[in-house]
Amino acid sequence: VAKQRNLRVSAYDPGGDEHSPTRLALLGDLRRALRGDELVLHYQPKVSLSTGEVCGAEALVRWQHPERGLIPPSEFIPLAENTGLIGPLTRHVLNLALLQQRRWIDNGSPLKLAVNLSARNLLDERLDVMVAELLAEHGVPARWLTLEVTESAIMTDPKRARELLERIAEQGIEIAIDDFGAGYTSLGQLKHLPVTELKIDLSYVTTMDTDTSNSLIVRSVIELGHNLGLSAVAEGVESAAILTGLTSFTCDVAQGYHLSRPLPVDAFDRWCASWPGL
Ligand code: C2E
Ligand code: CA
Ligand code: CA
Ligand code: CA
Repeated sequence: VAKQRNLRVSAYDPGGDEHSPTRLALLGDLRRALRGDELVLHYQPKVSLSTGEVCGAEALVRWQHPERGLIPPSEFIPLAENTGLIGPLTRHVLNLALLQQRRWIDNGSPLKLAVNLSARNLLDERLDVMVAELLAEHGVPARWLTLEVTESAIMTDPKRARELLERIAEQGIEIAIDDFGAGYTSLGQLKHLPVTELKIDLSYVTTMDTDTSNSLIVRSVIELGHNLGLSAVAEGVESAAILTGLTSFTCDVAQGYHLSRPLPVDAFDRWCASWPGL
């Protein structure tokens, strides 16, 4: 197994030689994947710590490669970012997410669905128009969509990012800051961004039960979020102890393996149907 894994990692090393044959083959494969149905979304539930109910889900992309099996996003998102394919990939993912949201709406069980953006997507002046068109095409009200952007993505070009995010937020789409605490968003910036949610970086959350300073950071970020009128979300909730700690810090929402791993849609629907609440 270890050997197989090494082979796969080396074949997909996003930092590898730009022109290596494997990389070029993979790039061709990714172009094909964007035209076909090899990219799939898995959904991870978000649970409200005040009601105990499922309050949303994050869509996470995987590549079902016909020969290589399921490839995680860490192995092809960087490739897409470096080859100009991230725009089409984000559009593809949004389309899949909204198709699914449409099914959930038709079943009477819509939920707030979060989709991830890459740093480069924030440099695309027409992103707001693209998202608006897809929402209209699928007849999905904007309030069911959240876009997650990392601090570092915003910091690439803060002014431009803020203007674009404002045009997106004006439509009624929510914006979450992902991996908060890992980057360098100045608090001054944060105040002026049209965001509604802070997602605490998972590295602090997964270790908060054993590392006192990380626990303090988590508590401070929740407090900061609340002081700015934002909802605080913790991802990387891997144990009951972490969940209890977050509840005592009045964190709003939890996401993590202790609740559920990201699941293919059928398994996700079954998980939600049998969720007993907290
Ligand atoms: P992220 O947006 O920070 O997503 C959270 C990652 O943490 C996911 O990994 C998720 O499966 C994982 N995770 C969830 N709960 C736990 C937990 O309790 N413990 C631990 N250790 N990990 C947990 P995944 O799905 O492999 O995605 C990795 C990254 O790839 C994402 O990080 C995001 O940056 C990127 N990504 C995923 N899907 C997309 C996409 O559709 N578009 C773009 N641009 N990026 C994506
Ligand atoms: Ca995310
Ligand atoms: Ca994150
Ligand atoms: Ca991340």
